[in-house]
Amino acid sequence: MDSDRGARTALIVGAGVAGLAAATALAREGWQVEIAEVGPPDATSGWGLCLTGPALRALDALGLADACLAEGCGMSTITHVDVHGEPADTVRLPRLIGARRPAMAGIARPVLHRILYAEAERRGVVVRHGLTAAAVDQDRGPVRVRLSDGTVREVALLVGADGIRSSTRGLLGLASARAFHGQMVWRALVPRPRWAAGIHQFAGKTGTAGLVPVSDGQAYVFLTENGVGLSSLPDAELAPRLRHLLEPFPGKVAELLPLISASHAVVRRPVLTDFLEGAWNRGGAVVIGDAAHAPAPQMASGAALAVEDGLVLARELGRHDSVGAGLQAFVRRRRRRCRTLVETSVTIVALERARRHHEAYPLVDSCHRLMAEPV
Ligand SMILES: Cc1cc2nc3c(=O)[nH]c(=O)nc-3n(C[C@H](O)[C@H](O)[C@H](O)COP(=O)(O)OP(=O)(O)OC[C@H]3O[C@@H](n4cnc5c(N)ncnc54)[C@H](O)[C@@H]3O)c2cc1C
Repeated sequence: MDSDRGARTALIVGAGVAGLAAATALAREGWQVEIAEVGPPDATSGWGLCLTGPALRALDALGLADACLAEGCGMSTITHVDVHGEPADTVRLPRLIGARRPAMAGIARPVLHRILYAEAERRGVVVRHGLTAAAVDQDRGPVRVRLSDGTVREVALLVGADGIRSSTRGLLGLASARAFHGQMVWRALVPRPRWAAGIHQFAGKTGTAGLVPVSDGQAYVFLTENGVGLSSLPDAELAPRLRHLLEPFPGKVAELLPLISASHAVVRRPVLTDFLEGAWNRGGAVVIGDAAHAPAPQMASGAALAVEDGLVLARELGRHDSVGAGLQAFVRRRRRRCRTLVETSVTIVALERARRHHEAYPLVDSCHRLMAEPV
């Protein structure tokens, strides 16, 4: 065993899904973990998230799936509604955490964040806000990190979990391939209609919209807007613009329009993807989550990959005698699965932009089947 394994100290940059999941997984293995998060506490945006089967499976391994199901909304079906507003097909999703528990969960982001955060703190993880990594040096032995408040940490492991715009990635000299795909995704929190027991996906003439319940009382509407530049809209225009984009959709979507009234409950985000073809790790440092592999939201699986990363990272570090060897093994185990998901999501985006939605549906299904395979 080498000296850095003995130290078992980790600094994680970013307290998002990947950072908090990794912190808990490492703390369970006996690591002493500190997180530097640039944002203030409770800064998570208010829209909802779909936790797919693999996400629930990974959360279950951390002991957190039941909390997510209790506070979110368990679901096991996707109802596809055709362009005439008629239910065309109901897909029953595989239940990866047992026949008695639902296949997926819708959950509000702040709720997921609170659950992950509470568990990390319960395991002794220290989260410091308003901080980032300013410089990294690992020429001699442990990783030496200077934080933005001027203090220095010497740790065995540095984890960059600071999202698709990761600055840790830059400090480590790792090459990003972030790309914008000419689409905006919309999410709006609305009161949950009584008929919304599972996910509903509505085929429109030029795109897809849908509804995902996130609790007994709330759901989110989603929509992808094609053929747009990297522009922003004034906040006050978000709700009227989303209503306008949803108007051509048939069937029950019309019932949702009056529920989208407050612009502060609406978010519009560019569809960005990234995948690091080169190294993800350098010495005792590694990037995980969106900082290493960010799929387009169409597969609703970025959070699944982020939680899985945390679990696999802790397991591989536990299996190897040095941090460097553990990180190599982690990257070997994760690269192919993450690349497949990112590449599939990019193909789906291209098909949507070409208005070939029907070719995208089987691709989504086969990629979800692949993701259901063991990590
Ligand atoms: C509109 C939209 C909808 C989506 N829907 C789904 C879905 O339904 N299901 C799903 O599984 N995935 C979905 N995703 C993807 C999912 O949100 C991401 O894959 C997931 O959040 C990645 O987690 P992360 O921790 O790597 O990054 P993030 O969640 O982005 O967290 C990064 C954290 O790092 C912090 N940070 C950033 N920079 C720094 C810095 N320099 N120093 C310190 N801290 C820093 C941030 O404040 C943040 O707390 C969606 C994405 C979008 C954009």
